[in-house]
Amino acid sequence: MAIDLNKVRNIGICAHIDAGKTTVTERILFYTGKIYKVGEVHEGTATMDSLQEEQERGITIQSAATTCPYTFRGDDYKINLIDTPGHVDFTIEVERSLRVLDGAVAVFDGKEGVEAQSETVWRQADRYGVPRMCLINKMDKLGADFDFSFKSLRTRLGANAIAIQIPIGFGNDFKGIIDLMTMKAMYWTAEDQGVNVTIKDIPADLQDAAELWRGEMVEKIAEIDDSLTEKFLTDPSTITVEELKASLRRSVIGLKCFPVLCGSALKYVGIQSVLDAVVEYLPNPTERPDVVGVDPNDPSVHMTRPHSADAPFSALVFKVVADVAGTLTYIRVYSGKLEKGMRVLNPVNGRKENVSRLYEMHAQNRTALDDTGPGQIVAVVGLKDSYTGDTLCDQDKPIILERMTFPEPVISMSIEPQTADDKKKLGEALTTIRREDPSFRSNYNEETGETIISGMGELHLEIIKNKLVRDMKIGVNVGKPRVSYRETITGMAKDVRGLFKKQTGGRGQYGDAVVTIRPITAEEAEAEELEMENGVVFVDAVPGGAIPREFIPSVEYGIRQAAASGVIGGYPVINVRVDLVFGSSHDVDSNQIAFEQAGAMAFREAFTRAGPALLEPIMKVVITTPDEFFGNVSGDVASRRGQIIDSEMRGASRQITAEVPLSELFGYTTALRSMTQGRAAASMEPLTYRQMPERLKLEVLANQ
Ligand code: GDP
Repeated sequence: MAIDLNKVRNIGICAHIDAGKTTVTERILFYTGKIYKVGEVHEGTATMDSLQEEQERGITIQSAATTCPYTFRGDDYKINLIDTPGHVDFTIEVERSLRVLDGAVAVFDGKEGVEAQSETVWRQADRYGVPRMCLINKMDKLGADFDFSFKSLRTRLGANAIAIQIPIGFGNDFKGIIDLMTMKAMYWTAEDQGVNVTIKDIPADLQDAAELWRGEMVEKIAEIDDSLTEKFLTDPSTITVEELKASLRRSVIGLKCFPVLCGSALKYVGIQSVLDAVVEYLPNPTERPDVVGVDPNDPSVHMTRPHSADAPFSALVFKVVADVAGTLTYIRVYSGKLEKGMRVLNPVNGRKENVSRLYEMHAQNRTALDDTGPGQIVAVVGLKDSYTGDTLCDQDKPIILERMTFPEPVISMSIEPQTADDKKKLGEALTTIRREDPSFRSNYNEETGETIISGMGELHLEIIKNKLVRDMKIGVNVGKPRVSYRETITGMAKDVRGLFKKQTGGRGQYGDAVVTIRPITAEEAEAEELEMENGVVFVDAVPGGAIPREFIPSVEYGIRQAAASGVIGGYPVINVRVDLVFGSSHDVDSNQIAFEQAGAMAFREAFTRAGPALLEPIMKVVITTPDEFFGNVSGDVASRRGQIIDSEMRGASRQITAEVPLSELFGYTTALRSMTQGRAAASMEPLTYRQMPERLKLEVLANQ
């Protein structure tokens, strides 16, 4: 099945929460013929928001991909709509969808214009170099103001925005749209759910305004494009619509400008012209740079793969979802061909995977495919060990595409099943969630019998809890969210002995291990070619025979167990090197358990002697605020033990990057809003772990 890549668009819709992303998506799915009843968000029936959670909150958390067939000027196009979450707490989710899409439609509220959160998402798209167009939605809303919203794109985002449409009326009088390219008026009605468009001449009272806007559009398009400059200077009217469109397309793909449209998703106005613009101005897969990766055998060797079906197969996993049909693995194919039944390599873990089935996903059904190729987004059934961020490739031509990195979870919460049945279900559910969400962890602590779940922030854990309780109907009691601290040492402790010796009548127990411990960072370990596992390096430096070889793994196991459960406060130990330097054994009484105990005892004792310290997670917080609140916001950051790393003006607002301890950030978003009359927003992500001040360390330990 040869697919004409010129006819494919992989796009996402990015928006501030509440700007209308879900409604726009619904309308797109409707017009592209895949669903026949338009679901409206306020009825809680929107198709892409499949989780109850999302419907209640009205936010879209999970990424999914939906293929929408669309006919434009008689040609059949395939628009793959990749769902991007609108909530900034899910930076990681947003970024993983940005990785696999080629273009985006940014939706704005026509009354509010650019809001703080829209800036955050816009900057993320900037970082990934994603070409974009803008839709100023909600033109039917009371107080909607196209001029203001359009200007805010320039002032607040500093974006070279070019209006290619203007509204006819606004608020209750919003009637339709003037297309500045063709200089025609377009009208839709709610009676046929906007299926048909009526094209008329521009209303007389808007003729002058339309001319002005068009003049500006032509000027700005010509300004970027040298090939139009001469014509523009001699006689702009000689520039044809085709020339304007072709030039605009090049500039949009080159990230030099952003076309701006308007409409009302709720009132069915303008959505087809959004789809037309997606086809006309956003890139097809081949218009994007070739994907880059490294050689799995030598990560210093960079390589690329062309957008060609003849090239070796490569694809990126961007979402894993448990589904009735089994696990669905969403992938974007970059190069080569993937056929049903093929075996592919996951070069990240070295496993071979079986592609049993391939699907193109639609909003309400799926189409089984025999094969697929570059630029396509499909769901695969049959993969067992491939997770979000992994590469799949040709077994003989391995490549690892640039990995998505997921930081260590920084916040955790205890979770306790209510009945034996719940316990069983909980175990399975946590495994499923982990597969779907690489930024989530769960841990069963055998000592305390507690299950601890960890994630990226308060909201992240809350959503997981609700998923377990509501969607999966598992009875659980949960504790309060707690910061995940880590323990480490600041100095060295030499030759510390752990002796486990018991004589209880018959056969006794005897294990004896002597360790030296010292601090080490992951980078240092790498430089010395020492293997660090969960933050701990273990070096076997026992002189021959002092401990029989078969017991050395037991000593290591004991040490690792002790490190994982912490010494001073029950937090995992990291950045520690343990050398096993000596020991002794007993012919009869020595066994594995005795050596595990000896290892753990030596480790704990050495740890307490080596200047134990507590590390706390530090978040990178990016705050966007009107400049007038800069003083308040930065003062508040300082009072939270935060440090401002960078601050710059972006249009009329200020973007502040700060490093703040997570423990000081509970409820931060709410506090920030009230401090700035709701006009600032922040996104945060885990950055690193740093040593806590002694006084706070003691406080944390005392409040255990
Ligand atoms: P999301 O949070 O960005 O997904 O936004 P939704 O699509 O859920 O919309 C948020 C709210 O705005 C809902 O109550 C919608 O009914 C409403 N809404 C969406 N589009 C429009 C529009 O074009 N005009 C008006 N007046 N309201 C809209």
